[in-house]
Amino acid sequence: MNTIEAEIHSALEDAGIWPVKVTTVLSPAWTTEWMTASGRAKLLEYGIAPPAENARLDAMLGMDIPKACPNCGSSHTEIISQFGSTACKALYKCLDCQEPFDYFKCH
Ligand SMILES: [Zn+2]
Repeated sequence: MNTIEAEIHSALEDAGIWPVKVTTVLSPAWTTEWMTASGRAKLLEYGIAPPAENARLDAMLGMDIPKACPNCGSSHTEIISQFGSTACKALYKCLDCQEPFDYFKCH
């Protein structure tokens, strides 16, 4: 956490903004339900399948899966690994375009 705070300080000071006070708030814990439509769209543009808006119920039912391949939009996908490039993502493969992609899991 200190690294994040230090980088925020550095970036703002480099931009001529100071003094800077960074307040870290850890509670309540962030969930994917706080993700905005704009944030979901940006993930998709970057090639990461975002969680559905109300994916928590899907997750409780073991149905937390990507709605579509971020490359071609196909829903014909399969899981390769429960963990992708980070622990918060799973690795999927599209069975139509054959491209692998990360899915940002609901949490
Ligand atoms: Zn695809």
